[in-house]
Amino acid sequence: MDRDRKEISRRSFLGRGMAGIVGAGIGIAGADKVLGSPLMQEGKEAAKPQILEYRPLGSTGWKVSDISFGNARMQEPGQLEYAIERGINYVDTARQYFDMEVVVGKIFPAKRDKLYVTTKLEPELFTAETTVKQITTALEESLGRLNTDHVDCCLIHSVGDPNLGGLERIQNPAIPEAFEKAKKAGKILGWGASSHGPKMIEEFNWLLDNTDLDMIMPGMNFLTKGLEPVLTKAKKKGVAVVAMKSLSAARKIDYSEYMKDGRTARQALTKWMLAQPNIDTICISMGTIEDIDELVAVSGRTDMSMKERNVLEGYCGLLGSDYCRPGCDGCFDSCPKDVPVHDILRYRLYFNNYGREKYAMSRYAKLPESRQAGQCASCAGLCTSSCPYGIDIRSKLIRAHDELAV
Ligand code: SF4
Ligand code: SF4
Repeated sequence: MDRDRKEISRRSFLGRGMAGIVGAGIGIAGADKVLGSPLMQEGKEAAKPQILEYRPLGSTGWKVSDISFGNARMQEPGQLEYAIERGINYVDTARQYFDMEVVVGKIFPAKRDKLYVTTKLEPELFTAETTVKQITTALEESLGRLNTDHVDCCLIHSVGDPNLGGLERIQNPAIPEAFEKAKKAGKILGWGASSHGPKMIEEFNWLLDNTDLDMIMPGMNFLTKGLEPVLTKAKKKGVAVVAMKSLSAARKIDYSEYMKDGRTARQALTKWMLAQPNIDTICISMGTIEDIDELVAVSGRTDMSMKERNVLEGYCGLLGSDYCRPGCDGCFDSCPKDVPVHDILRYRLYFNNYGREKYAMSRYAKLPESRQAGQCASCAGLCTSSCPYGIDIRSKLIRAHDELAV
């Protein structure tokens, strides 16, 4: 086994102080590339895909796998242990993912030093009136569910979502105060915010300009536009960037015509993301061992073959006027009845493409009936002309209501 990997525990790693360890990997000090797991080096494992690249995570002092584990669809703790064996050292979870914090906590304390752990507190917790005590209590509850005494990063879940409030929501001074207090108490090492909402760019900009947050987690993929200046700003400030929703539309599309050599559309999309500047890691929701093998297989790969470029062009052509982009506000305010188009289309994506039917329906059920899409069938559809990508919003909302309404 790699000696450094064996000898450097996470505690000793942290004990060396952040300034001195920028550039060190988790358990792989001084190494940018890891060409095979310890198990592979001992010849105990058949040739399984391995993470090949670890990237600095902003200025946190950590190096994390370029592909990281989103646990919203995780079935059981063994999947995360398998991901660790493949070299993944970053897991993302959230209070909102039902019991998923608890599932991660099942492998702790035994595997705690193998992972950088990020969780997100409930989106609804954060309002203009939220107190330090409420945030502290919610964090304590998450630590309990995760079976750990600290998380490496704690995020505000879903900034940039007008349903949850405007900018005043994240301007609440109790937020940085609570997180800084938690840092001093050793309960978190950093804090940040995630978003795929219509006001994502505006609210990330505000946070980057006005706070000392440590991480942003934007929805971003081959089809999204306009986020690059935010990512550049984050990079200049040393703020970690963790991309999500990078494969969100690829799940049900058959690209076998393009990918006859056994590669997949999701691998092509992942490689495209890995080649983008200013991204520290791509957090991908993994629900099976096959997911892990498929995605880890392209770690460290930014090269794109002609076939893979064709896949992306095909993806763009097929989904261009069908896929609602994370972070887009083109149709924001276009509905006179205040139906939240972006959110409902996202719930529909969870329902149809992510296998998260229960979650999607529960989110939809939280909307008051007056803002649900039941009324779209009898509406002329003023919203549709506002989409710059030509998405037939009205038709999609009618179908969404059929699928999501209980
Ligand atoms: S429907 Fe079109 S305009 Fe509205 S959020 Fe989605 S992509 Fe943007
Ligand atoms: S179809 Fe009508 S009710 Fe439905 S979102 Fe569009 S404008 Fe609003």
